[in-house]
Amino acid sequence: MKPNTLRVMEALNGRLTFNDEQFRYLRNMQGGYNGECEFVAVMEDLKCPHILQRDLYFEPKFSGPIQIDFLLLIGNTAVIYEVKNYSGVWQYSEEAYRQKEFERANPLIQLARTKQNFKALLRELGYTHVTVDAVVFHVGTTFTLLGAPENRNVILPTQIQEHVTKLNQYQYDVSQSLVDLAGQLELAVRVAPPFTKMIPEYSFGSLKKGLKCEACAGFVEQFSQRICLCPSCGHKTNRADAVEAAITDYEFLFSDRKLSGSVLAEWCGGLISQSHIRSVIRMRNADSNRK
Ligand SMILES: [Zn+2]
Repeated sequence: MKPNTLRVMEALNGRLTFNDEQFRYLRNMQGGYNGECEFVAVMEDLKCPHILQRDLYFEPKFSGPIQIDFLLLIGNTAVIYEVKNYSGVWQYSEEAYRQKEFERANPLIQLARTKQNFKALLRELGYTHVTVDAVVFHVGTTFTLLGAPENRNVILPTQIQEHVTKLNQYQYDVSQSLVDLAGQLELAVRVAPPFTKMIPEYSFGSLKKGLKCEACAGFVEQFSQRICLCPSCGHKTNRADAVEAAITDYEFLFSDRKLSGSVLAEWCGGLISQSHIRSVIRMRNADSNRK
């Protein structure tokens, strides 16, 4: 599922003017989310016995908090996967990946910390015999990492297939102890604190109203009865779909506010008919009566 912070940032995009930092944050989150979806698609090819857990957050008693994108349990090994979706050409060093003036900390550094903390959690749960491995998994076909030494803990996009093939050669069942561990981990999972400090402040009055283009974040104009046209990219959107998306945006941004007919008309920038408003409100009332 898409993280809430990402949904809110996408809903705000275009309705509010983002500064460079906010825009970069949105792009990073979108890239990260798409990378995770790509990883899930890759792991669907896994034929060997395994358990795959996603989006785990723990607060062990004796170490710092742990955030894990994916945890693969196979045989008697727990493999932590940190998925990265970078693009372009980067230069490798032990401390950082560099690209002209940009620099990102080498993900292996954070991953080593995660692995240490995860081992502390396993000790706490009584699973000291489990082998822990940790892998930085790069998706994204346009990503190149120059000068990267051969490292079985770093998978580059060109090595993904080989990695999956290798995993698939493993035919042993997941050990009973790891099956038990999977259950214990599910119980130990905590809700990660929401990362909301990058979300700009907003109010209904301060946001731009209208229907958004599904292809870019631009605002559409009415083209015909059923179709809207985006003046910035030329994409045509079904008006009912655009209204539906606008309502979903509204619900993410104002979960505590009631959606009335007049609010809906304003939110859609007048691009919704009175009969459409009536049917939306009627359906929502029926829904809330059913609950
Ligand atoms: Zn557009």
